Amino acid sequence: MNDRQDGHTLETLAVHAGRRVDSVTGAVTPPLYAATTFERDPDTGTSRGYSYQRDAHPNGRMFEAAMTALEGGAWAVAFASGLAASLALFRAAARRGRIVASSGSYWGTLGQLDGLVREWGAQVAIVDTSDLAAVRDAVGAGTSLVFVETPSNPLLALSDIAELAAICRDGGALLACDNTFATPVLQNPLALGADVVVHSATKYLGGHSDLMGGVVVGAVEDEWAADVLEYRAMGGAVLAPFNAWLLLRSLATLPVRMRAQSAHALELARRLSGHRAVSAVHYPGLPDHPGHALALAQMQGFGAMLAVRHAGGAAAARTTPAKVRLFTHATSLGGVESLIEHRASSEGPGSRTPPDLLRISVGLEHPEDLWEDLERALAG
Ligand SMILES: *Cc1c(COP(=O)(O)O)cnc(C)c1O
Repeated sequence: MNDRQDGHTLETLAVHAGRRVDSVTGAVTPPLYAATTFERDPDTGTSRGYSYQRDAHPNGRMFEAAMTALEGGAWAVAFASGLAASLALFRAAARRGRIVASSGSYWGTLGQLDGLVREWGAQVAIVDTSDLAAVRDAVGAGTSLVFVETPSNPLLALSDIAELAAICRDGGALLACDNTFATPVLQNPLALGADVVVHSATKYLGGHSDLMGGVVVGAVEDEWAADVLEYRAMGGAVLAPFNAWLLLRSLATLPVRMRAQSAHALELARRLSGHRAVSAVHYPGLPDHPGHALALAQMQGFGAMLAVRHAGGAAAARTTPAKVRLFTHATSLGGVESLIEHRASSEGPGSRTPPDLLRISVGLEHPEDLWEDLERALAG
């Protein structure tokens, strides 16, 4: 159980934060407000808080309030996708200086930094954030943001958030953490000293592979918050009210889903380590993982993502996802159903992912059924 500053535990916040019984009807679940526009006060004011959906809408505010509480922050701004959220943050950072980012960041995040963000004229340095000395060297004067993804994608490498926060404080930079893989159930970057958290809400926060969304959460209300909000209104990548509604519903089960899926992943990781067709398993819950001690210190669990290296090499790895029956051969992660993919193929040309790597998102199915399916697919 994680204690939060307002005295409620994570489990309770997940069910109640951002929600209240509807005062008009008594409905126990929040209504869906589809409205794009909101009635003005007689004096043209907006005393009820809304004017146009692109600026803010009630279901979005509920989701933002819940994420603010779950991450222990001061503000949250929801977006149409995880990439829309990170782009808003990079825009705010690019105005202020150089961006240093994890080489283990999500493929699309690195694509934004290498493409759009450099086109804006911003300097970008991509470093291995597991290597603190490399980060210390990279964070010179004029660095506005260090962006870390831990556990990383797809190799599940860990970076030390508290140490990175100290380096950022010395260097006058903000520390942002992509918390998509861990979620606030397993990792609290703001409590460890990070300034900002970014999520692809498409993954565990949504949890059912049926919505796209993203969110930026910040520790203190400052000009970064204003910039991120402005970029949403100007860029227009707004979280749809229905997706916000679904997200609020999904957050209630997030702690239970994360713990169950993580337990299934740990069981599969242990068994896969002993499988003859597997040359390596990257999972922070295994004692031989280089980040295991750090995971024990900074996480409250190891997550439900696995990377498996096929002993038969690239060709065998590429054909394995076609042999599963219970897993689905698909990209993405974080849903209740288990997925498997040949990651380099999903990333496409230019991928730096090892070609023998299978990325697995472990769901809520019974681990024995998952194991039976995987074992057969790997052996075949
Ligand atoms: C999927 C993902 C993203 C991008 O989010 P979208 O919702 O697909 O735009 C960013 N970071 C991580 C770690 C992800 O897994």
